[in-house]
Amino acid sequence: MWYFTEEEKMLAESVRAFAEQHLAPKIEQLDETETFNAEAFQKIAELGLLGITVAEADGGAGMGAVAATLVMEEMAAVDAGTTLSYLAHAILCVNQIGTNGSPEQKKKYLPKLISGEHLGGMGMSEPGSGSDALGMLTRAEKIVGADGKFTHYKVNGSKTWITNGPNGHLFYCYAKTGPDKKDVSSFIIEKSMPGFSTGKKFKKMGMRASPTGELWFSDVQVPVENRVGAEGSSIKAMMKNLDIERITISGISLGIARACIEIATKYSKERKQFNTHIGAFQQIQERLAEASAWYEACRALTYQAAKTWDLGLMVGKEASMMAAKAKLQSAQMATQIALDAIQILGGYGYTREFAVERHMRDAKLVEIGAGTNEILRVIIARHLLGDVADELTRS
Ligand SMILES: Cc1cc2nc3c(=O)[nH]c(=O)nc-3n(C[C@H](O)[C@H](O)[C@H](O)COP(=O)(O)OP(=O)(O)OC[C@H]3O[C@@H](n4cnc5c(N)ncnc54)[C@H](O)[C@@H]3O)c2cc1C
Repeated sequence: MWYFTEEEKMLAESVRAFAEQHLAPKIEQLDETETFNAEAFQKIAELGLLGITVAEADGGAGMGAVAATLVMEEMAAVDAGTTLSYLAHAILCVNQIGTNGSPEQKKKYLPKLISGEHLGGMGMSEPGSGSDALGMLTRAEKIVGADGKFTHYKVNGSKTWITNGPNGHLFYCYAKTGPDKKDVSSFIIEKSMPGFSTGKKFKKMGMRASPTGELWFSDVQVPVENRVGAEGSSIKAMMKNLDIERITISGISLGIARACIEIATKYSKERKQFNTHIGAFQQIQERLAEASAWYEACRALTYQAAKTWDLGLMVGKEASMMAAKAKLQSAQMATQIALDAIQILGGYGYTREFAVERHMRDAKLVEIGAGTNEILRVIIARHLLGDVADELTRS
C-alpha cells in the first residue's frame, strides 16, 4: 500500500464513485459502438479534474503526478478508454499549455479546456515517424507579409494516432522550423483554422471509447502568438511531457490490472468444477498470487516515479528512466494479468459477458502508446550503459 495523503485518498474515493456512477453503466455500449463519453467528460470537468496539474492561479487544481496517476487508476479500473481520452486532454494538452504557455496563451486557452467546453489533444506521431519522433516531417515556415512583418507560420504535414483527433477542438502540435532534426517547435493549432482537417476515426482493437485519428495540415496559417516557447526549442519540453505521460498512463495499467484481479478472484470463489471451487486448485492460486504481487510491485514503482516527479528529485535523463521503468513494468503486468484473468474465467473470460476481455484489449495499448516497450528498454539501457549501448549502431 502506497502512503497517500488524506487529500489524495479523498480524491481517489470521489473518482471511484464517479467512475461507478457515470462510466460503468455505459462502457460496454461505448466499447461496442466506439463512442466517446461526452457526458462523462463534462462530469470530469465538474469534478475540477481537467486541469489537474495546472497551477491554481491559472484556474487548475494545482495537483501533481501522484494525484493524476490516482485519477487514471480509479477511472481505468472501470473504463480505460475514457481514461485515455482524459489523459490526452489533461496531460498531453492542458498540462503542456499550463507548463510552457505564455500568460496570454494560458489566458486564452485554459479556461475553455478546463471547463470542458473544449477538448484537447497532442500531435507528435506521424505516419512515417512513431518511435523516431524527431523524424517528423510536419513543417512550419515563417510567412513574411508584403509589409515585411512576420505574423504567421504556414504549417504543412500530418499527424496520426492522435487521441481525441476526430472530436478535439485544439491540439498541442510539434513541427520542424529548421533544417536540423532538433529544430522542433510547438504550436497550439485550432480545429477552426483554415487548412486544418481531420481524418476518419480509426477502428481499434481496444480503447474503443477513446477516438483516435489523423490531423492534416494544408497551408494552415498559425499566428506567431500560437507558437509555444522559443522557435526550435521544444525538444526538452516534449520529452518532459512524455515522462509525465508515461507515469500517469501507468495508472491506467494499474487500474486495469486491479479490476482483472478482483473479477478473477471473485470468480474463483464462485465457480465450481469437480465439486470444488476453482480457487482451491493450486494452479489458479498461483496465477492469482503472482498477479497480486506483480500489481503491488508496479503500483509501488509507479507512485514512486510520480512522487519523485512531484518533488523534482530527479531531472532530465534520470526522470526519464524512472518514468520508463514504471511504464515498461506496469504495461506488461496489466496485459499479462488480463490474459491470466481470461484464463481463470475459462470460456466465460473469452466472451463479452465479463469485462476481462475488454480489459485485455485496452491493456495492450499501453505497451505501444507513449513509447513502446522496446523504446523504453532502449532508454533504460542507454542510461545504464552510456556510450556502450550505441556501439553497434556506430560500427
Ligand atoms: C490508440 C493510440 C493512441 C495514440 N495517441 C497518440 C497521441 O495522442 N499523440 C501522439 O502523438 N501519438 C499517439 N499515439 C502514437 C504512439 O505513440 C505510437 O504508436 C508509438 O510511439 C509507436 O510508434 P509507431 O506506431 O509508429 O510504431 P513504430 O515506431 O513504427 O514501431 C514498430 C515496431 O518497431 C519497434 N521499434 C522501433 N524503433 C525501435 C528501436 N530503436 N529498437 C527496437 N525496436 C524498435 C517498436 O517497438 C515496434 O515494436 C497513439 C497510438 C495509439 C495506438
